[in-house]
Amino acid sequence: MLPTPVSMDITEFRKRGKEMVDYIADYFEQLEERQVYPDVEPGYLRPLIPDSAPQEPESFEDVLKDVERIIMPGASSPACTELETVMLDWLGKMINLPEEFLAGKDGEGGGVIQGSASEATLITLLAARTKTIRRVQSENPELTAADIMSKLVAYASDQAHSSVERAGLIGGVKIKNIPSDDKFTVCGSALKKVLHEDRAAGLIPFFFCATLGTTPCCSFDRLLELGPICNKENIWMHIDAAYAGSAFICPEFRHLLNGVEFADSFNFNPHKWLLVNFDCSAMWVKKRSDLTNAFKLDPLYLQHCHQESELVTDYRHWQIPLGRRFRSLKMWFVFRMYGVKGLQEYIRKHVKLSHEFENLVLQDKRFEICAEVTLGLVCFRLKGSNELNEALLKSINEARKIHLVPCHLREKFVLRFAICSRTVESVHIQFAWKHISELATELLNA
Ligand code: PLP
Repeated sequence: MLPTPVSMDITEFRKRGKEMVDYIADYFEQLEERQVYPDVEPGYLRPLIPDSAPQEPESFEDVLKDVERIIMPGASSPACTELETVMLDWLGKMINLPEEFLAGKDGEGGGVIQGSASEATLITLLAARTKTIRRVQSENPELTAADIMSKLVAYASDQAHSSVERAGLIGGVKIKNIPSDDKFTVCGSALKKVLHEDRAAGLIPFFFCATLGTTPCCSFDRLLELGPICNKENIWMHIDAAYAGSAFICPEFRHLLNGVEFADSFNFNPHKWLLVNFDCSAMWVKKRSDLTNAFKLDPLYLQHCHQESELVTDYRHWQIPLGRRFRSLKMWFVFRMYGVKGLQEYIRKHVKLSHEFENLVLQDKRFEICAEVTLGLVCFRLKGSNELNEALLKSINEARKIHLVPCHLREKFVLRFAICSRTVESVHIQFAWKHISELATELLNA
């Protein structure tokens, strides 16, 4: 049997959860005494909280006190929007994003919480589509939007997540795969070659989605080569770092993000690997006007909402839905209760455990590692046929003690060992490997 996860956390969770119910019940009881409309002025929140996340953990009480002091007087609006802008700045600073992506006090860029990486890719593809149509039309007034749309083409690695292809389908534009190299990464020359062919065929390249941490094997496209090409060719570069992005809070992994300075937009999911509950997908743009110019409508019944100004961001123009939840509260709690150091420790622990698993695989001559292990994912297989590996996966998943999801790397069927759980320890890695190795022995002796 596996040990039960850290009991202190569970005890604390029960206690805090019950206190939270009391807090909400008190709020309901006092509802009639509260104001309907907040007194605060737009921009009130930023000066009340630090301009970056704490390094050391803070207590739950400290955060809750600030909810009462800072959030409650601002009610849902403008507190919801303003905390989100500041949290995205905190997170942007944690991964050392270039200043241009931050909202600051009056920046042109800024961050927003989307529901998923798929939405972030779609929304940026749609913004890039509109921007390109307008630009091409201004240069060629005889062309209709439909003429231009039919020539637009977007690109992503042949290792990119299916959500990129789907964004192309929904956005009604062609989308092409760029062949990745033997390390499963896209390099500049591969993109250049396809661009050259497509321009010659009269197509209009407009969007490239680079992936940092591909789904099959966690490979990284070469931003430093790809970015300058996109900038020169007027192609919007979006970066999908859905899983890997969280690791960039550790200085030793930040180099994987080098080249982000060339991107127009960047996205990762703190709900995947930064201890923030689902859903929370952080997206930044260098120019907020690229989004607002593409998606802004102002019907009369929404004009009581804030106008976009230096002080107020109106996120309804940055996303598909109109309504939105107060998702930045959970970021605020997590960043403060773990501190940057606690979050870094969490990422490092997972990476260490994935290397522990990699070493166990390497010590067994029946197995091979199929891609470089950089973060928390290990791609491995039995040396031998795809059928053999399919049978191994089937026996692992049918035993129901651990669960693995496979992928294809070129022609090879590969097993993926992903470190996911908040409570995972070395003992679980040892348990999983012993189990896999025993099942492999059974299979090979059958
Ligand atoms: N991009 C990459 C690289 C992914 O690995 C995933 C999911 O695993 C996605 C996008 C899709 O993420 P979401 O569910 O947030 O749309």
